[in-house]
Amino acid sequence: SICYLDGQYLPLEQARVSPMDRGFLFGDGGYEVIPVYSRRPFRLEEHIVRLGHTLAAIGLPDPHSAAEWAAIVREIVARNDWQDQSVYLQVTRGADDKRNHAFPAEVRPTVFLMSDALVTPSVAQLESGVAAVSAADFRWLRCDLKTIALLANCLLRQQAVAQGCAETILFRDGFLTEGAASNIFIVRDGVMLTPPKSHLMLPGITYDVVLELAQRHGLAHEVREILEDEVRAADEIWMTSSTKEVLAITTLDGRPVGSGRPGPVGRQMHAWYQDFKNTVMRG
Ligand code: PMP
Repeated sequence: SICYLDGQYLPLEQARVSPMDRGFLFGDGGYEVIPVYSRRPFRLEEHIVRLGHTLAAIGLPDPHSAAEWAAIVREIVARNDWQDQSVYLQVTRGADDKRNHAFPAEVRPTVFLMSDALVTPSVAQLESGVAAVSAADFRWLRCDLKTIALLANCLLRQQAVAQGCAETILFRDGFLTEGAASNIFIVRDGVMLTPPKSHLMLPGITYDVVLELAQRHGLAHEVREILEDEVRAADEIWMTSSTKEVLAITTLDGRPVGSGRPGPVGRQMHAWYQDFKNTVMRG
């Protein structure tokens, strides 16, 4: 595949960065993953705005304007073969000649983008849902930033995979935060619930779309703190992300969620999401 590195488009296997890059040494950078349907980036502006928030919050000068970012993303899409892609974009604080925690005086960020075929959930996963485990959320207190320092998220996701599951649902101090790499929605008595945005979770682009769709279609919903016990007693649990879209979680820690099958509200939301995606793609 073709990637982008600091101004150049080149085959991924030819791309090289310095081992002194602060992304490599410190996980010092931000990133985005942008889904592309029929060669059209979905919610591109929102992803670029979120990247801007991340970079501003970590004091990393944004190397590009929104228009420049959009142009680079579109070029990566055009140069790769797939109709549906998942574009990965990362910015690190760049390479210094010494390893210092403090920022180098001259900051020259490293910009890297690559693309792959977009893999959304399979028909089997949509029909059966997926299994999840739970864990204590031991991440830092700036989970609202999309930084490349993802060791905690990797360890937490691996806990799920090691048990043959797809996701780890995180609880902090008895409350739901999110998944290791997704936001979480539940349904109780026909009402869709999800936690409010805070420093404890990533403000998901898909989370926003799902809330917009609930609003538009008049689905009863509440954005509020959710107790761990409410999640365990939920009729439905879904995970949402740019690549998983809206995916039912049908077992949690080995116990069935509700009926143990994807529920009616989640099926409806998945259908609304697909419709919305298709409208945007045609428009
Ligand atoms: N939370 C975390 C921790 C994530 O890594 C992701 C996926 N990037 C999400 C939520 C979902 O965000 P989005 O809908 O923007 O993909």
